[in-house]
Amino acid sequence: MAKIWSLALHGGAGPIFGRDYAPEEAHIRGLLTEGAARLAAGEAALDVVEAMVTALEASGLYVAGKGASPNTAGVWELDAAIMDGRTRRAGAVGALVGFESPVQAARAVMERTPNVLLVGEGAANLAASAGLARIADPGSYYGAVAEDTIQEDAPLMGTVGAVALDQYGDLAAATSTGGVLSKTPGRIGDTPIIGAGTWADERCAVSCTGLGEYFIRANAAADVSARIRYGHQPFETAVHGALDDVKRLGGNGGMIAVSASGDLAWGFNSSGLKRGLADSRGRLEVATFL
Ligand code: ASP
Repeated sequence: MAKIWSLALHGGAGPIFGRDYAPEEAHIRGLLTEGAARLAAGEAALDVVEAMVTALEASGLYVAGKGASPNTAGVWELDAAIMDGRTRRAGAVGALVGFESPVQAARAVMERTPNVLLVGEGAANLAASAGLARIADPGSYYGAVAEDTIQEDAPLMGTVGAVALDQYGDLAAATSTGGVLSKTPGRIGDTPIIGAGTWADERCAVSCTGLGEYFIRANAAADVSARIRYGHQPFETAVHGALDDVKRLGGNGGMIAVSASGDLAWGFNSSGLKRGLADSRGRLEVATFL
């Protein structure tokens, strides 16, 4: 049997029309090439999505990780999640302060605790006990914020995510975010809510970006799987159906998804979606707008 794999990445659904996203697109293309090589070499989807999101966070190019913006109290509270489709184990952190990689903290929740979601101080304590890299001086670490966040016409949001199918037929998803711009202290969006912003099972893996409150109310990421499972919808129809439900509630954003047979899908009803898609059939695409 042919060994197939697929990978999709996103860098958020809030791009500004007319802006040149060449640096982000070049970065996504480089990561896709690296992730593709890892999947082709037999690495597990779960490890690849964690590595991809860690690199997206560390780049400072997106409103997540190093590129995140602070809440209204001037504190960088970050959210992330990771999910393993084969076992449906999941880990997530909300309002995490002081660590470079929220997605690694999410993985630590999954691997080291019986819990799925830890927030605030509890999440930070776990990240510390896992030995994750700390941020000594947030002001200078986050100093190189994503260009988007310092413009007058800044987007409302930004997130990064990855979904993958590996050669063993296993699916995984990971998402990380700084949240929406000027968020209220303690506000947690859809990203770390399993089923809302991040989901993986035996049918699909999904990572969302957009106005998180609407994705939570639509349970958008898991809705893709439900549409396949109970509605018997084709994969792409399910992705667009889940996004239409977000839109019907008044929300906007986008998502990337991969199916168990390796099909890749994306959609957005926002200004655009920084995204990249690659698979073992030779597909390699990177784009921001339609
Ligand atoms: N969904 C994220 C949140 O609401 C923001 C984003 O995707 O840009 O926290």
